[in-house]
Amino acid sequence: MSPPRFVVDTMLGRLARWLRAMGYDTLYLGPADDRRLLQLAETENRILLTRDAKLARLAASRGCLIRADGVDHQLVEAVEKLSLVPREAGWLSRCLECNTVLEPRPKELLSGLVPEYIFATHTEFMGCPGCRKVYWAGSHADRMLTRLSRLLDRKGSL
Ligand SMILES: [Zn+2]
Repeated sequence: MSPPRFVVDTMLGRLARWLRAMGYDTLYLGPADDRRLLQLAETENRILLTRDAKLARLAASRGCLIRADGVDHQLVEAVEKLSLVPREAGWLSRCLECNTVLEPRPKELLSGLVPEYIFATHTEFMGCPGCRKVYWAGSHADRMLTRLSRLLDRKGSL
């Protein structure tokens, strides 16, 4: 079974970045009207994550109402409600900014494009063909995943 795909409403932009960090195909349109979100969920077979109970009802089986405040709690709520398996879609496989699938980048092409100490101490890099952002082990996105593991480990006490 292929991993689920998502579209999130205007209120959940930060959650979208976390879902992408986990590797899930996640659309975030910024301000968008409900009809557009519902249409995307329908035509692209995406689960609509929303803070709006009415919108979640309209999306029916494709709707997922997120009640929690704060992105940490929202993330745990989404993982539980959707039974996500944090490694199923591939960690660090998708750009946090634009949702494009990342590609390996040969180190020699990155001189001057990443901080010097990062260039000196890392051998493997991933790059976004969409917005050109570069990722590496220990970069912000990677640290988010470490935090995610911790959040899920202690979710009982959140
Ligand atoms: Zn990108």
